[in-house]
Amino acid sequence: MRAMVESAAIEDQDFRLEARAWLAAHFPPALANVPGLLFQGSRAAADANPDYQLWRAAMTGKGWGVPNWASRYGGAGLTMAQGKIIGEELTAIGGFNPIRSYGTMMLGPTLLEYGNEAQKLEHLPFIASHERRWCQGFSEPGAGSDLASLTTRCTDMGDHWLVSGQKIWTSGADEADWCFALVRTDTSRKHGGISFLLIDMASEGIEARPIVLISGSTHFCEVFFNDVKVPKGNLVGEVNQGWTIAKRLLQFERNSLSEVKADITPLAPLAHDYVGTDALGRIDSPDLRARMVRNAMRHEAYLATVRRIAQEAKNGGPSNGVSTLKNLWSGIIQERSELLVEMMGANGLGWAGEPYSDAEREATHAWLHSKAFSIYGGSYEVQNNITAKHTLGLPG
Ligand SMILES: Cc1cc2nc3c(=O)[nH]c(=O)nc-3n(C[C@H](O)[C@H](O)[C@H](O)COP(=O)(O)OP(=O)(O)OC[C@H]3O[C@@H](n4cnc5c(N)ncnc54)[C@H](O)[C@@H]3O)c2cc1C
Repeated sequence: MRAMVESAAIEDQDFRLEARAWLAAHFPPALANVPGLLFQGSRAAADANPDYQLWRAAMTGKGWGVPNWASRYGGAGLTMAQGKIIGEELTAIGGFNPIRSYGTMMLGPTLLEYGNEAQKLEHLPFIASHERRWCQGFSEPGAGSDLASLTTRCTDMGDHWLVSGQKIWTSGADEADWCFALVRTDTSRKHGGISFLLIDMASEGIEARPIVLISGSTHFCEVFFNDVKVPKGNLVGEVNQGWTIAKRLLQFERNSLSEVKADITPLAPLAHDYVGTDALGRIDSPDLRARMVRNAMRHEAYLATVRRIAQEAKNGGPSNGVSTLKNLWSGIIQERSELLVEMMGANGLGWAGEPYSDAEREATHAWLHSKAFSIYGGSYEVQNNITAKHTLGLPG
């Protein structure tokens, strides 16, 4: 199936053909429609899959995992339009970006804007090769939506920084090599007393404790910093400029959360199998059918909006509109997960073992995990507040 071939970049037809041919030659067919997410956090899953290893090596060598980054940072130095073409062609063959990570989605673009050259050269090539994994140390027990209330202390010790405090909900912290963290460098000011620090997770004094989620996975942790020494050069931007940098990084995060995923299994064939068909060959439940159509229409409308916004964006980067998109996408994916579980009936509540198939167990876990979509990256209500204030200009 070839979808989304009309793009912002129809003018570069030669590049599209080149990308199509290269992907056809290098993307392992065994990985088609396998959720790329499987490999993002888990080193064990990635290491155990030879197809994934080949795919990652091919994309890393080509620089197409971060196509718009300069080659000295591990990218391919392509235009935004060419980067989009690669994404579209990947989607069309059920492929995924093998190095998509917190590094590529959040820290990389932020370092490109705010990092100094030494920091870029030190970190970006390792993000581009997926050798250095990152986690995001923002949230704290008393600082989620009100992130600027964070209290993790960072003291200037002259030749280094000293960090003490606790983070929470830190995705992948137990597998991460490094953490980009917000720390407090001035207690007399709220937003103006925060700094942005890069912390090596192997430093003495760091402990990451996994938290078990409702979906059964343990993809995030509590992280404790006990007098952790951090080199002076790991501060990004100026001291106390962290809030500005964090806001930009959160835009990149929401933008990536609202990106259209390639790994969406079509619902209709599953509905045919589980619910059956009527005399006309339609799904044998008018109500379910109507809700599936509504979800599919919302999805199509969403895709069209994403494409329009991308075409309109002059610099190609994310704007406040990503908060609106993030909420829309969360709603579509949550509704879709509900539909999937509903059509599977009792089989859609499988947890482990027989008599459930892999797909049925995955549906249960995905449904439970979908609840988190409207929380992480900024909660639903807070994103609506951002849309109201910054996009619609409503009074605060
Ligand atoms: C699966 C998952 C992964 C995550 N990964 C990370 C990570 O890697 N790194 C990281 O730093 N954080 C991570 N988070 C944390 C996430 O960013 C926070 O959970 C989120 O910002 C909400 O903060 P909170 O949980 O403290 O909720 P609260 O801020 O306590 O919010 C509770 C409720 O009150 C509402 N509310 C709060 N303030 C307002 C307001 N002003 N107006 C209207 N309603 C409001 C919220 O919308 C929500 O419904 C993750 C969370 C989840 C669920």
